[in-house]
Amino acid sequence: MAGVTIEPGDTIGILGSGQLGRMLAMAAARLGIRCHIFCPDSGPAFDVAAGQTRAAYDDDEALAAFAARVKLVTYEFENVPSHTAEFLAQRVPVLPNPRALAITQDRLTEKRFLNDLGIPTAPFLDVVDAAGLARAVAQLGRPSILKTRRFGYDGKGQAMIREGSDLAAIFQSLGGSPSILEGVVPFSRELSVVAARGPDGAFEAYALSENQHEHHILSVTTAPAEVTSATAEAARSMTAKIAEALDYVGVLAVEMFLVEDAGKGETLIVNEIAPRVHNSGHWTTDGAVTSQFEQHIRAICGWPLGSTAMHGSVEMRNLIGPDVHAWRELLVEPGACLHLYGKHDARAGRKMGHVTRVRKP
Ligand code: AMP
Repeated sequence: MAGVTIEPGDTIGILGSGQLGRMLAMAAARLGIRCHIFCPDSGPAFDVAAGQTRAAYDDDEALAAFAARVKLVTYEFENVPSHTAEFLAQRVPVLPNPRALAITQDRLTEKRFLNDLGIPTAPFLDVVDAAGLARAVAQLGRPSILKTRRFGYDGKGQAMIREGSDLAAIFQSLGGSPSILEGVVPFSRELSVVAARGPDGAFEAYALSENQHEHHILSVTTAPAEVTSATAEAARSMTAKIAEALDYVGVLAVEMFLVEDAGKGETLIVNEIAPRVHNSGHWTTDGAVTSQFEQHIRAICGWPLGSTAMHGSVEMRNLIGPDVHAWRELLVEPGACLHLYGKHDARAGRKMGHVTRVRKP
């Protein structure tokens, strides 16, 4: 589907109703763009959008009606079913394009894509059954990590294989689904690049972020990450290469491991690509001239990308589960920028909001 011209006052569609969709819709509204959210379940994005459709992703009638109301479609999560993306793409532009979605929603195709570009990943092997897992473990050794090819997030869909692990039981515990086995990367820090590419090939990256996880969920992001300028440049150029090869339009995040070796210095290994705005880019709303959410809207609308310059060094802390109960104290903390997603049930492990602190130079 060829590009369209988007003007302020137009409506765009977003698949998914989580906090990322909410923050995209809020950024779009600031630029005079209306958003229509399509999702099987209501969620935080429904509260802030001009239009909503609550229907299944395989409901072709609802998808066709949605496509008729919007000038283009984007998404806030990578597990959009391929049928949904292709059905919509026959009617309106879907950005980032369905091929980028297909490559990045499958860990095996994603890793092969990266290696074909000459970008290093953890060593990996394709696993289709328990016998194949045994062969892969014999090759990669222990410890190693079994990950389902699809639908993994926040540590779900993965299991560590250790000495003595029962391989058949572990394979079954992940649903017996097609998987990959990864070698363990001896990283010292986890980093990510959040960047945007426009339809004309314009590319803008934010400062490299450093991410700390707790129980596999992002806990704290700081930026700029303290790395050598050569590492920061290598991270940026890998991301540009990925975006170019995907013919990507919109914001993407590339998660990386930093391996620090006394002899070899700093090496980057790519863990995964998120074809969407990303939790490690939330600091950009308060800490950069243009937020990642606005940048995504600008990119998909074919508008000029904004400046990624920072207002200072930043720390973004996720409010997970009961952390959110501190909202009153955070409201009175000088310099703390509080973001709440409007979710009611502060279940353990649930992302309820975040707080950003910007230290001015
Ligand atoms: P993922 O779902 O692939 O993002 O993995 C979740 C987390 O598990 C990462 O943020 C890392 O902390 C850890 N992890 C994943 N893959 C590897 C690996 N190959 N080696 C070491 N740690 C890993």
